[in-house]
Amino acid sequence: MKTSAQAFVQARAAIPGGVNSPVRAWAAVGGAPLFISRARGAYITDIEGREYVDLVCTWGPSLLGHAHPQVTAAVREAAERGLSFGAPHENETVLANMITARMPPAFRIRMVSTGTEATMTAIRLARAVTGRPFIVKFAGCYHGHSDSLLVAAGSGVATQGLPGSAGVTAGTAADTLVVPYNDEAALERVFEESGAKIAAVITESAPANMGVITPKPGFNRCIRRLTREHGALMITDEVLTGFRCSPAGYWGLEAGYGPASLPAYLPAAAMQGEEERRQWQKTQLAQAQYVPDIITFGKIVGGGMPLAALGGAPEIMDRLAPVGDVYQAGTLSGNPLAAAAGIATLKYADEAVYRAVDSAAEQLTEGLGAEFDRASVPFRINRAGSLFSVFFGREPAENGVENYAQARAQNTAAYTAFFHAMLDGGVYLPPSCFEAWFVSARHTPQVLDRIFAALPNAVNAVKKALG
Ligand SMILES: *Cc1c(COP(=O)(O)O)cnc(C)c1O
Repeated sequence: MKTSAQAFVQARAAIPGGVNSPVRAWAAVGGAPLFISRARGAYITDIEGREYVDLVCTWGPSLLGHAHPQVTAAVREAAERGLSFGAPHENETVLANMITARMPPAFRIRMVSTGTEATMTAIRLARAVTGRPFIVKFAGCYHGHSDSLLVAAGSGVATQGLPGSAGVTAGTAADTLVVPYNDEAALERVFEESGAKIAAVITESAPANMGVITPKPGFNRCIRRLTREHGALMITDEVLTGFRCSPAGYWGLEAGYGPASLPAYLPAAAMQGEEERRQWQKTQLAQAQYVPDIITFGKIVGGGMPLAALGGAPEIMDRLAPVGDVYQAGTLSGNPLAAAAGIATLKYADEAVYRAVDSAAEQLTEGLGAEFDRASVPFRINRAGSLFSVFFGREPAENGVENYAQARAQNTAAYTAFFHAMLDGGVYLPPSCFEAWFVSARHTPQVLDRIFAALPNAVNAVKKALG
């Protein structure tokens, strides 16, 4: 039997670092990454046949649990009808309407294959609409790996401790202005200095790529107010939070948008005419505290297949080709298998699913906190809906974690010790302390018990690492 360590050696000969996305290489925590052979429900199994409780959930898409029978059936059926058409098919419209039904600000949808493409396109659109060059982003927020957004990015960039990326020209980097997260005064200053040149502010609805950080009350509304005052767009990146923190993402939680019962689809009338659609949107958004101009989606929206999207007002979205003058395209965009997976995932992501993930996150964070307290381990747990992450160390415990600088003040060695001890106990955590933890609707109390059983040893390992 091949071990993961052996597979990693072979992979590194064929693929840079042995992986197709850096965080998978475990550079931050050390050791050979697990090579996975299959995943089901709340569990993943490595090529050595060991089963782990999965708290990565493929970085978010697995909301219903891995290999959900209806989702895999939908993909199998779609595959029988052909893997790709390179021509329109009706499920693109179905999925677009399902997105709009849950996220009414996303009035018109364009589908792409990755979150990176979604944010890259959103930025191109913002520059076209405003005729301005600058993009404002927040330090530690991750929006994919396009050139303009790799400045002071979180996620893998944070893990690797790189300043950004080689290969990004100084000119491109100069068009990206970086502001500390949760800092209204700094944002106001940047608008005072450069307001007339700012095309957009892009923000994670709740940052989850420097660990989880919740926006201070009013921070997103402050972004909305300043962008509007200065004629810039607000781009809300819900690639990670969308359809996870609530049916309407973190925006829904925060802006107070949560329909009494979950709309699986748009009302029939709104699917036909522009006027009816606008009327429906207006009614839906009447109570929302703020409405972004463009929202980007990924991860859950493709149900584990490569599909992402951006959505916004028709005045903005219709600037895209072929209607408008902003070019954007994709051979595999709206791929029929990916669309089928996304449709099935959203269809089965009902109220019970959101109750289940919220409850799993609550029980898990409470259980973790109680165990850390019992052992006098200094820690901070940040939570945004069902997303959360743990920061070890005195600084996070005493001062909280509200921005990238504070996230970087955590004790990374303590997390490394915790990660490996949990792994020994059969729990697969994110292999970096700068990533969120993910649960699925299949993380039942019995599954959580397996996590709690591994905890005492892991807490001892943390104590040792903290010295
Ligand atoms: C994952 C992520 C992206 C990038 O999506 P990819 O599909 O990996 O390109 C963008 N923004 C956020 C907030 C993400 O979490």
